[in-house]
Amino acid sequence: MRFSCVLLQERLALVTGANGYLGSATVHAFLQNGFRRVRGTVRSQAKADAWERRHGSLKGKIDWSIVEDMTAPSAFAQAVTDVSVVAHVASPVNYSLKDKENNVLKPAIIGVLRLLEDSAGEESVERVVFTSSAATIIGAHSVPGVGKTYTDDDWQPATYEQAMNSKSGVFVYEASKKFAELAAWRFMKERKPMFALTTLAPPMVYGPPMQPIESLDALNVSVRDLWALVDAKQLPLATMYPICADVRDIAELHVRAATTEAAKGQRYLCVAHHYTYRQMGEAIRSDPALTDAQRARIPSRPVEKDRPHFATDSSKVERDLGIKWRPFEETVRDTARELFRIEAELKGRQ
Ligand code: NAP
Repeated sequence: MRFSCVLLQERLALVTGANGYLGSATVHAFLQNGFRRVRGTVRSQAKADAWERRHGSLKGKIDWSIVEDMTAPSAFAQAVTDVSVVAHVASPVNYSLKDKENNVLKPAIIGVLRLLEDSAGEESVERVVFTSSAATIIGAHSVPGVGKTYTDDDWQPATYEQAMNSKSGVFVYEASKKFAELAAWRFMKERKPMFALTTLAPPMVYGPPMQPIESLDALNVSVRDLWALVDAKQLPLATMYPICADVRDIAELHVRAATTEAAKGQRYLCVAHHYTYRQMGEAIRSDPALTDAQRARIPSRPVEKDRPHFATDSSKVERDLGIKWRPFEETVRDTARELFRIEAELKGRQ
């Protein structure tokens, strides 16, 4: 059962990484679902200011906590004060191999432990939702073919040692998510805090970006993946990770996971659709809301064939949290429309 609206109004939600792609959408989702106030963590005041410039109408509804280094002891102690529900969204999402242990693995793993430790020390905290990833379940480098159905119970096989030796930034990122989530569940088992944990495992997330964007070269990784289609000479050969969901649905799931009894102690694989770049390109190119010039930028030669691949089962999240996924076409068209709008806005500023 979800908290009543009256109670929600009195509750304070914390969203870490509130200035990021999913973090921004999650802030909106809490406010749209009856939370009167949200606190967001960012790494600098400048990032909070940029967020408020983009979302002027929400000024006063979000207060900011600056967490420069989430691996520092008590990093979130101030941020969790008086908070009842936490969405821990912040984590490095990049495929850089430069000092991967300090830049990717440790912030992901130690970051969630700091958040849980600080939440355990704050008696107001009732629920923590951790944004994990479908990459903790299905590793891009270990994807088997037809015949396997992945569920919330699966874990991909990467080891920490393999991640340290890997020359693939994707492998390291995926391992960072796996070991962060495992560390979180271990914390819950060993420390038995008063709050309940829920983990969400989204696949590739698309949908209109709500974060501050100064340049289309600085988009978050998954939206950049879609925007890359626009200027490609031909569609990329194959989708590396052919499963996706809408950012608005994943953000909504953070709220439902934080406010639904059934979600306590659960891990949820959150796959809305299986897709190909060919389908993505076709959905955007046939969008009547775009101009001919915009449509002409999407390559039309379908070089990617539908490939038989693994199956996924997200029935637990659909059942427990009652989510109805947005159609794939709506997700990718809304993303492209917003990106074309941002492109025009940025050009207008030059
Ligand atoms: P994003 O836009 O890059 O946001 C990442 C957020 O985490 C930003 O607020 C970023 O802050 C913060 N962050 C990164 N490294 C940090 C560090 N070392 N210390 C403190 N904060 C740090 O990426 P996103 O796509 O929204 O991803 C958000 C979460 O969703 C991540 O946990 C990611 O693993 C998960 N996820 C995303 C997808 C997807 O397709 N987008 C799919 C599955 C799971 P700065 O702005 O200061 O860098």
